[in-house]
Amino acid sequence: MSRPSRPFLPRWLPAMHLLRLIGLALLGLHASRASDWDYGGEHGPENWTGICKTGKKQSPIDIVTDEAIRSDLGALKFDRYDFAFPGTVTNTGHSVQVKLGGVPIHVSGSNLPSLYVLEQMHFHWDAEHTVDSTRYPLELHFVHYDIQYENFSVAAEHENGVVVVAVLFELSAEDNVDLTVILKLTEMVSHWVGKSMVTIQKKLIPFLLLPKDHTTYYHYQGSLTTPGCQESVMWFIMTERLTVSETQVNVFKSVMNGDYALQHNYRPVQLLGDRKVYHRLEGYSAASSFTSSVVSSILSVILVRLLQSCEGF
Ligand SMILES: [Zn+2]
Repeated sequence: MSRPSRPFLPRWLPAMHLLRLIGLALLGLHASRASDWDYGGEHGPENWTGICKTGKKQSPIDIVTDEAIRSDLGALKFDRYDFAFPGTVTNTGHSVQVKLGGVPIHVSGSNLPSLYVLEQMHFHWDAEHTVDSTRYPLELHFVHYDIQYENFSVAAEHENGVVVVAVLFELSAEDNVDLTVILKLTEMVSHWVGKSMVTIQKKLIPFLLLPKDHTTYYHYQGSLTTPGCQESVMWFIMTERLTVSETQVNVFKSVMNGDYALQHNYRPVQLLGDRKVYHRLEGYSAASSFTSSVVSSILSVILVRLLQSCEGF
């Protein structure tokens, strides 16, 4: 592990003092409430406009596992996900967002046409993607953009400009200790839309928020799940789930947007339309499934012939 090159905090600030202070840093977002769209009421998802309403490749979706096309698209390569990073946790009024400082983190591999830089991570409670109609209590989005564009906003306007790696969490009696740092800071910003808490140095290791098996996933082409809903996202939803306790989910549910708690922040599932969902399985190829189906057809023909010939006796 190498040390992130750009320290977030001045050297003259003693780390221990900082630990207690963890200064509230105003990041220039002024409103006490996030505006113009929401997860309920008159500005809720049913009334989002533009592509959100008219698009044909919208997210999230329900993943029907039986209908996913099994194929080995290749593993995703997570570059520097195992480093420990400083970062900020912000209550955006629509989510809890984590931004890491220091050296850039990338994802590549699979069917990706480029190298994608991690922009931010954020949470949805309950989960946005459902699996065979099951909705899990929490979903984490690692949001990346194509390195050839100058920033996330520009990339989001281009086909395949954005890659989101999604991790689903299922309920457990035990706390997930890897969420502790983020949750502590979430509690501190929960009443302050647009305010951020700075973590102490080297506290966040993104790899710990990926399942052990990060090579098996569902993949489809979709959109951002918040307005403007740009249809530029390659989605990778990890098959293996992590866990979260009810107490931990409740920390997210207590996050305030203005004068009300953000009880949930998921967009309802959208129509799949003529899109395909792929299930990446290592070593699995369409050719091998074709071969095995041909072999089994031949075997069943032989079996029928044998049975017929036996009946003849
Ligand atoms: Zn999201």
